[in-house]
Amino acid sequence: MGGFNQTVVLDAIRRSPDGLSRVELADISGLSAQTLSNIARRLLDEGLILESGKIQLGPGKPRTLLTLNPSARFAIGVHLDPAVITTVILDLSGRVVSHSARRTPQPMDADAVIGVMVEAVSDLLTETGVDARRVLGVGVASPGPIDSDHGIVVDPPHLLGWERVPLRKALSTATGFPVVLEKDVAATAVAEIWGSHSESPENFIFVYLGTGIGMGLVSGGAVLRGTSQNAGEVGHIVVDPDGPVCFCGLRGCVAVTCMPQNLVEEAVRAGVHLGPVDKTDPSAVEEAFLELCAKARRGDSGAGAIIDRSATRVAKAVSVLTNALDFDRVIFGGPYWPMLSETYLALVPAALRKLTVAPHASDIRVEGTAFGTDVGAIGAACAVFDNAFSPDTRSLLLQH
Ligand SMILES: [Zn+2]
Repeated sequence: MGGFNQTVVLDAIRRSPDGLSRVELADISGLSAQTLSNIARRLLDEGLILESGKIQLGPGKPRTLLTLNPSARFAIGVHLDPAVITTVILDLSGRVVSHSARRTPQPMDADAVIGVMVEAVSDLLTETGVDARRVLGVGVASPGPIDSDHGIVVDPPHLLGWERVPLRKALSTATGFPVVLEKDVAATAVAEIWGSHSESPENFIFVYLGTGIGMGLVSGGAVLRGTSQNAGEVGHIVVDPDGPVCFCGLRGCVAVTCMPQNLVEEAVRAGVHLGPVDKTDPSAVEEAFLELCAKARRGDSGAGAIIDRSATRVAKAVSVLTNALDFDRVIFGGPYWPMLSETYLALVPAALRKLTVAPHASDIRVEGTAFGTDVGAIGAACAVFDNAFSPDTRSLLLQH
């Protein structure tokens, strides 16, 4: 149990930026003073924690404070989105040391995409000068569905041509690091949990707005991953019974009505001038979508109406979850969030409160992620730390 107790203690220190004394740590962990002292010695020897000053609490000897040594270990996070590949390197405190963003190669040939991911990891290490021996691993956030047991990306609708790609093995072989594969929305939820300063376990929904729409669910402070780690598939919640037919056979699913391609088509039909758009080219669709958002922000009423309506539709889909789960907090993020945030923050809260039946409906909080467009990559890196340090995980990388 040495490894387990050690992770409990390290986790407690990590969550207390001002440091904790050995006495406080013994209280928190329920370990004896002697065991605690031995563990602290091991963590100090490994360089994972530091003795940083003393504090006088009441009578008796001043107590030495133990704090995390942020540069003792690092984790890399890569977020594979059909439009952009975001890469971050985090220190042990969760701070972003550096990040990069590259366009996802089109067409999305798996080898080419993996090549860009590997190059991004290698460039980040070179640029930051972080010693690879201090890197615990690479976390990857990928569109689902994923086969988590085998580290395989199964066949995400927006990763054209990807069918059972062994992403974990490919990245691990190419980089030499252990790799953790997470579904994108689960990764965003992990990032928000790491960034949370709340004392009590939280319940919230993370709404991911990218080429697709997904939701990460956090209940009681833990990510709800589901049986196969693929929870969060909300794309087929119907939000417009008269909407276009979806490939699932239903009409007006949130995935088809609210995603860039459909919004661009709606806008063109409504007479918003976006120029000719090649629907088969994801970057052309993205460009047209960015133009649509820009027009809406500049006050073009036709463009504004399209974005406003998408906000109301997304609110409908979110309300299905807030009602089913009795949650009172919603966090938005993803590559398209910066373009949509103004409209969505203005319209979604009222729409959501109207549709939520719980007595706390009027208190529902709607906010944007504090991590910006790096959120998926940050969460993937945090998942590496979680695997290494969380006391409740089965795979303790640091166990001796
Ligand atoms: Zn559908």
